[in-house]
Amino acid sequence: MRVLITGAAGFIGSHLCERFLRNGHEVIGLDNFLTGSPDNIAHLFENPSFTFIKYDVTNFVYVEGELDLILHFACPASPVDYLNHPIHTMKVDSLGTLHTLGLAKLKGARYVFASTSEVYGNPTLHPQPETYWGNVNPIGPRSVYDEAKRFSEALTMAYHREHGIDVRIARIFNTYGPRMRMNDGRVVPNFITQALMGKPLTVYGDGSQTRSFCYIDDLVEGIYRLATYKDLAGEVFNLGNPEEYSVLELAKLVIELTGSGSEIVFRERPVDDPDRRKPDITKARRILEWEPRTPVREGLVKTIEWFRDKI
Ligand code: NAD
Ligand code: UDP
Repeated sequence: MRVLITGAAGFIGSHLCERFLRNGHEVIGLDNFLTGSPDNIAHLFENPSFTFIKYDVTNFVYVEGELDLILHFACPASPVDYLNHPIHTMKVDSLGTLHTLGLAKLKGARYVFASTSEVYGNPTLHPQPETYWGNVNPIGPRSVYDEAKRFSEALTMAYHREHGIDVRIARIFNTYGPRMRMNDGRVVPNFITQALMGKPLTVYGDGSQTRSFCYIDDLVEGIYRLATYKDLAGEVFNLGNPEEYSVLELAKLVIELTGSGSEIVFRERPVDDPDRRKPDITKARRILEWEPRTPVREGLVKTIEWFRDKI
């Protein structure tokens, strides 16, 4: 296949580029380096099947030649990043989605949209199945991300219904691993760098809020199956690891696994920070024959090693 991946220089996008290249596909990566880095894809430039376009997907997008598949992954994903770029975030997941869907229509390409567990907001149902409609504050600070993703899901489905495009939506739950930016503000890179540098780990609130953490290789496998399996047009899948931790438990685990002498400090909780989050992955298990294989402890050890090298 000839595959276009937006957000190619980001954390997940760069791993996806690698995976599609490894499976013999031709990959065109597109990114404007807003929150990603050329370092994440530098090693791919030697591969003749990889080309890169430095471009802002909120502008009209055109790619020469045939395209079989588009993966729209461009978008600031860390709460710190999207709160620093609120309007750009809304543009990437409105104009960017519109432009890439238009390109999919023009080329007759399959389309995969990177949505998020944030579409469930602060969930009143636990764990969250795909059938849950969510509990989102439409005017809170996080809405620039949640509501843009919800709009993008609606637009993606409209292109499917009106133009018959083969679209698939991945609702990705917290994913971590090598190539996350050290200072991107998400909990895993924050805790690991704080622990490795002997600084206090900053737990927001009392740390009783939960998240379910998926290792990057497992997520990439899930996306690959979602993108390549037949007969999934118009389907949405939760992709994440149901292994649920409170933020305080995670802080203690990172201290243990790094062997750090850091203490834990408590800081103000961000506005509208969801209380708990855990994917129901029954549908992905059944249809994609997929479930995460990397326990959180094991994934954290690999991620810690990567950050240790960086530091
Ligand atoms: P990331 O910030 O590392 O990657 C996003 C990439 O998009 C960056 O390389 C950035 O430069 C690029 N980008 C941003 N605006 C752009 C624009 N206008 N034009 C072109 N490129 C642009 O984040 P990530 O964690 O890799 O997330 C990738 C996708 O997965 C996002 O859509 C995100 O919403 C989604 N997602 C991620 C997670 C997670 O836990 N990592 C969870 C849910 C959803
Ligand atoms: N968090 C924390 N300390 C940090 C960074 C994050 O306690 O240094 C908390 C945050 O308040 C949230 C959870 O960790 O409850 C996950 O935050 P993250 O930004 O990684 O992702 P989110 O799931 O909120 O998008």
